[in-house]
Amino acid sequence: MYTKRLIYQHSVSKQLLKRMSDEKYKVAGAWDLDDDNVKEFKEKIKNKLIEIQDGKCAYCELPLQSRNPEIDHISPKGGKRRVLHPECTFLPLNLVYSCHNCNSTICKGQKDIVLSKNGKRNYRKWTFKIVHPYIDDPMDYFEVPISESGEKRVYPVIKRGIDREHKNKAKTTIKMFGLDGEKVLELAKEQLAVRYPEELQSIIEVISSHRPD
Ligand SMILES: [Zn+2]
Repeated sequence: MYTKRLIYQHSVSKQLLKRMSDEKYKVAGAWDLDDDNVKEFKEKIKNKLIEIQDGKCAYCELPLQSRNPEIDHISPKGGKRRVLHPECTFLPLNLVYSCHNCNSTICKGQKDIVLSKNGKRNYRKWTFKIVHPYIDDPMDYFEVPISESGEKRVYPVIKRGIDREHKNKAKTTIKMFGLDGEKVLELAKEQLAVRYPEELQSIIEVISSHRPD
């Protein structure tokens, strides 16, 4: 998210997390295992993510409901042919709920966004190519411009005066998720719909009434 940092909240019980720490859940393909632990984990984490993300995509902030949402592995787990980071397949800190577009190959897909593990097993010590929804504070990277009338615009721009490392991360995030492209238009539409629901409804009605059956 480019407007707020996601705060990790426990959504999975300690017992379940302990079960998920078994080595069989840290290998390629584990996410698709058809067992009760996996099913319970996915259900619990999904509901929590919708709540902490206010129903919005963790990357582009468009409402998830109508956008075929998917649980996304921030550091991709990879598959059997291209194993990436299967050790964090069931690590809650590595999971967000994302719209289909952000999670597809057009945007993030299976791109490896881990810059370095720094030889450490502690996920929080890893470095990433994009602004991490939990670990980084987006306010260190982005500004959401204010319009002349004092309202917040919808798209992020790179924060002024930040160092090259921060700038690169912000730039990669904006590019990867198309936050300077067509999504800006969609974000603007969403914002207008929130701000002027009645006006928008009447425009839709006018347009519909002119459409031939
Ligand atoms: Zn998205």
